[in-house]
Amino acid sequence: MKSLLIILLFACALQAGEYSYWIEACPAVAGATHLTGCEPGDPELARWALEAWQRESGGAIVLKKSATEESARLRIHWATGATSLYGETEPIMVGGKRGGIVYVLPSVGPERTDPVMRDAIVYLTCLHETGHALGLAHTRNFADIMYSFQYGGDISAYFHRYRDLLKTRADIPAHAGVSDADRVALRAALKQ
Ligand SMILES: [Zn+2]
Repeated sequence: MKSLLIILLFACALQAGEYSYWIEACPAVAGATHLTGCEPGDPELARWALEAWQRESGGAIVLKKSATEESARLRIHWATGATSLYGETEPIMVGGKRGGIVYVLPSVGPERTDPVMRDAIVYLTCLHETGHALGLAHTRNFADIMYSFQYGGDISAYFHRYRDLLKTRADIPAHAGVSDADRVALRAALKQ
């Protein structure tokens, strides 16, 4: 019986996907904001997004901090850009395994007047884009983090729905922002 348990545990360990990750730092700029509009606390928001997927994966994702960007399956950059509103993801293969280079635009316009709303948008953008890096596609369901604004819908209401769950930024890790359908899609994607 004991040996069976050990075999089962070993099998689970083999199935678990190790996802090395790298998150760009946002260095403080004296007297000014960083070129991209990122803030020193943003890498933590990105890490919370990855940890949310890890929790929702039911053990299929095991995060591991990478020493270098080049060796990481999941790479998160802070960016400026005119082509996308919030972020974008470039799929990559690292050592024969699926990953992605994620670009998050941390400058979120008028919502900056509410720091918690601003952080909520950056967090949700990290969550959406890293979802792509994990193999998730867009959905038409407004409840999903993988919902695409190209299907219409009230963008402000979308972000406010999440922001209204928070008293402070510190509440973000307690609210994954992932729907039941996202969770099902994630677990299916990770088996492919
Ligand atoms: Zn997308």
